[in-house]
Amino acid sequence: MDETTQHGFTTRAIHVGQAPDPATGATIVPIYATSTYTQESLGHHKGFEYGRGDNPTRLALETALASLEYGRHAFAFASGLAACDVVVRLLPPQSHIIAGHDLYGGVYRLFQQVHQESHKVTYVDLSDSTQLANAIRPETKILWVETPTNPLLQVYDIEKLAEVAHAHGLLVVVDNTFASPYLQNPLRNGADMVVHSTTKYIGGHSDVLGGAIVVNDDQLADRIKFLQNAAGAIIGPFEAWLTLRGLKTLALRMERHTANAMKVAEFLHQHPRVRQVYYPGFFEGAARTILDRQMKGCGGMISFELAGSADHALETAKKVLAKFRLFSLAESLGGVESLVGHPATMTHAAIPRSTREERGIRDGLIRLSVGIEDVADLLADIAQALGGDH
Ligand SMILES: *Cc1c(COP(=O)(O)O)cnc(C)c1O
Repeated sequence: MDETTQHGFTTRAIHVGQAPDPATGATIVPIYATSTYTQESLGHHKGFEYGRGDNPTRLALETALASLEYGRHAFAFASGLAACDVVVRLLPPQSHIIAGHDLYGGVYRLFQQVHQESHKVTYVDLSDSTQLANAIRPETKILWVETPTNPLLQVYDIEKLAEVAHAHGLLVVVDNTFASPYLQNPLRNGADMVVHSTTKYIGGHSDVLGGAIVVNDDQLADRIKFLQNAAGAIIGPFEAWLTLRGLKTLALRMERHTANAMKVAEFLHQHPRVRQVYYPGFFEGAARTILDRQMKGCGGMISFELAGSADHALETAKKVLAKFRLFSLAESLGGVESLVGHPATMTHAAIPRSTREERGIRDGLIRLSVGIEDVADLLADIAQALGGDH
């Protein structure tokens, strides 16, 4: 790595892997739209042979992502799930995976409906590391962690979980999509692999899908690189370029997402129609200590539960959701624009009702991805959406 690894986050986001183009001096990394590379003579080439194996635009993105996550190697994929799929493919047949029970629905589906014949998965509450220890079997290979969790924004102690997992020879995978590399760097807390849906905060503009895996271990990197080429779920050059463009402003956006979200959370907290607000900004005691050690800020995701009787929770939620104007009712998160979602019927609909409600994902729960708009406008929109309609 060059001296730029010593620089601050935003300097690295803008410069690492992104030197002026050697062929033309183009200041911005070009979109290398080519499927193949002409060789000077048989066996003599510049390290690029075929577009599935290597692409300079993709390489720029990968180099920058590795630097931002404090990893030695990063690999970019067509989507977050394509990246997660490659992690699962690293495992020997009949492996056992332990995952946090607050898992992104798409990863749950990947485990339960794509890889279910080859691997078994146990879901545990990772706020309790004894639950993790008790679930470990001789064939357990991976601990899969998401923190902060979705939709209830719990924060798990990566360092402590990694200690337990490593004592049993497990690899620790952290899905860092919700925090982004600006707020959290799991490799520094003992994780072995970081996965991202770059579709969310890293891309940041809701206009491109992508995923990434970041690791330090060279052998692990060789196997991921092999699968990236051999299975072929690569990110295209245009998508890599858009993602790289988003990455440059990640720090600025995360600062604003976080500042806006704190104000929104405080507003919701004092609102008579809100029973409970889930946001790390309200943590105290032990949870606060973990948060402060592990994260640089609380991020832009908030969930809250509407007050009122459980019998009418779905109707009440539907009415509130229909009234948002600035917040778009949509899946996804992490873009500059604010989104609102209903976990029970959208992102978490695949989880059986009883399991869902046991975990606190009730019909009155609403999730916000707080964007970077002017916060006064966001607060006004929430106020009118919550406004007395009964
Ligand atoms: C969106 C998301 C994914 C999947 O990423 P895609 O880019 O949609 O394939 C994985 N994990 C988390 C936490 C996500 O939010």
